[in-house]
Amino acid sequence: MKDKKVNLNDILEKISELEARIDKIAPIGKKDLPPKKDQIKDIKENIEEWSKKFPSVDIEFELAKMLDWLKANNKRKKDYKAFFRNWLRKTSNSMEVNKEEGNHSYVFGCNAKECETETSTYKDMYFFCEECGKEKEIIKIKKN
Ligand SMILES: [Zn+2]
Repeated sequence: MKDKKVNLNDILEKISELEARIDKIAPIGKKDLPPKKDQIKDIKENIEEWSKKFPSVDIEFELAKMLDWLKANNKRKKDYKAFFRNWLRKTSNSMEVNKEEGNHSYVFGCNAKECETETSTYKDMYFFCEECGKEKEIIKIKKN
């Protein structure tokens, strides 16, 4: 009986620990955020601050894009600043990936045939081979 009591206390303690952790991760309802209009206004008034945090991103353009996306997908957010921050992080990450792609050259050729090759920094290019009568494929990727 005594053991059971101890176990229950352990469980209760674990639950309150867990609740504290959840509250830390997602403090929903802790503070009331201003309405969407005011949150967006706040972002617009601090474009320069955002630019400092994300120097490679066109903040105003991305804000317009995000608002279009929200409208098109009929989405509402509680914290627009947090959503915008994630949005910019994603944008800036995908820009890094594109930069890396620009560091490569793609050699287009005809498999197993000794036709002339074409080289491009874009992988979505279309090269037609007159000799084979078909589209050339990427046969090699070079680092620039
Ligand atoms: Zn060919």
